[in-house]
Amino acid sequence: MTQKVRVRFAPSPTGPLHIGGVRTALFNYLFAKKHGGDFVLRIEDTDQNRFVEGAEQYIVDALEWCGIPFDEGIGKDGGFGPYRQSERKHLYRKYADELIEKGHAYYAFDTAEALDAHRKEHEAKGKTFIYNWHNRLKLTNSLSLSAEEVQAKLDAGEPYVIRFKSPQGETLHLQDIVRGDVEIDTNILDDKILFKSDGMPTYHLANIVDDHLMEITHVIRGEEWLPSLALHNLLYRSFGWEAPQFAHLPLILKPTGKGKLSKRDGAKFGFPVFPMEWHDDKEDQLYLGFKEEGYFDDALINFLAFLGWNPGTEQEIFSLEELIEAFELERINKAGARFDIDKMQWFNQQY
Ligand code: GLU
Repeated sequence: MTQKVRVRFAPSPTGPLHIGGVRTALFNYLFAKKHGGDFVLRIEDTDQNRFVEGAEQYIVDALEWCGIPFDEGIGKDGGFGPYRQSERKHLYRKYADELIEKGHAYYAFDTAEALDAHRKEHEAKGKTFIYNWHNRLKLTNSLSLSAEEVQAKLDAGEPYVIRFKSPQGETLHLQDIVRGDVEIDTNILDDKILFKSDGMPTYHLANIVDDHLMEITHVIRGEEWLPSLALHNLLYRSFGWEAPQFAHLPLILKPTGKGKLSKRDGAKFGFPVFPMEWHDDKEDQLYLGFKEEGYFDDALINFLAFLGWNPGTEQEIFSLEELIEAFELERINKAGARFDIDKMQWFNQQY
């Protein structure tokens, strides 16, 4: 690798850090340190509706307790690195405009009611409504209206969003370090919103712009983001930027091995969940609450490292330095990783 490795952990401050998030942070950290690279913490807080007061501090504290230090990002005192997207919001609009100019994005003026009516009309015919080349010209946007009509709407201050214009009729072959070749038919992609009517970018736009500006070389994140791989690659292509390499980490499964691990599993199987009062019961996530329950940080790190990764040797107990030395993205499993409580307790007994 000639370019300096730079990775990031990019949580949204929507609640306490869940166990999958800690594993993502750990794998990013191990990879960065193995290659003498940088580990960046970026708080993705552009969705004000989902913002939870105190969540950012919790994330910083949890990483500190786990012993996963970052090189750049938000310091404990909020002190260093401008890596909070809400504080960078002035940056994103010009990139949305650039895509409009290049013909890769467009204004859409549809009201929620109009979109709902289209959705219902499709459903009545047993079809799913997708906002893309199938339907674009039947909707109210800068591809279906004349330039004068668009200008009149903009001048009148009508609310609008900026949508990505997904290409029609292409088969993409995308590379993921864990999954290998991922084939996507662009005809099924919808024209995702990049810029919202409230003047904020969506996750997709801010994430891509920041990864580019922060010179991120490898995006290591949870499998739930795999469906965004096509859009993200298309965004890089539309900007004319080189895309980073992607690695999507396998799901963490219930102790029974069946289905995704959920927060309720903590109560069911008797392992810790974080008891903060701003804990959102609706979120189906498992939070980090191990410290209060007498778990050791080193034991937890060792246990998490084995959730979806293996060193290819018999060794089970690793110090952080040994994990850095042994870690390779190529040894991440495709299959979901079972959250084995006995194994977690066993690790704890070793410390
Ligand atoms: N903000 C996203 C999250 O909360 C980050 C996804 C990514 O790493 O691209 O998981």
